[in-house]
Amino acid sequence: SWVNFSRYFHQVIDRFELTKNENITFIRKIPDEAIFIEIDEDKITQVLDNIISNALKYSPHGGNITFRVKELSDEILVSVTDEGVGIPKSDLSKVFERFYRVDKARSRKLGGTGLGLAIAKEVVVAHGGRIWARSQENKGTTIFFTLPFERIQEDEWDEV
Ligand code: ATP
Ligand code: MG
Repeated sequence: SWVNFSRYFHQVIDRFELTKNENITFIRKIPDEAIFIEIDEDKITQVLDNIISNALKYSPHGGNITFRVKELSDEILVSVTDEGVGIPKSDLSKVFERFYRVDKARSRKLGGTGLGLAIAKEVVVAHGGRIWARSQENKGTTIFFTLPFERIQEDEWDEV
């Protein structure tokens, strides 16, 4: 369905703001103007929940979590940046694979199954978007994803 992504993103963040640890600060860089886009709201909520939960879980010493939305010509770019432990370069592309977890010992202590980002990728790709990570160890991580304004892809038209 059609949602105003700016307003919707604020609502998702508000839900985490209520329960987050006070040593973490949320920073929102979200445009004031409405950005209407057609998405499966429940599924994109799961994507954001997974990404934001990771940002909280892997920021053990607090810091800022910054939320950004940018409206580009044919897609929106959404990102969540934390100042946590980071992801080693060699693991960066693998974290979107099912059950992949960086540093088994560290991950086991923090709990989880290693499915969060794999599910996020599946949903974003089904929406015609892309998802990727940028990170520096002990500096922090940014997860980016795009959502196109036009949901029907050309290859879907070929099948009609
Ligand atoms: P689940 O999400 O299923 O509870 P998980 O958090 O371990 O478990 P993913 O969300 O798929 O699984 O993330 C995969 C791995 O990527 C994590 O185990 C962690 O090592 C790494 N990771 C993900 N997000 C971050 C982040 N923001 N900072 C540092 N490492 C991260
Ligand atoms: Mg996770």
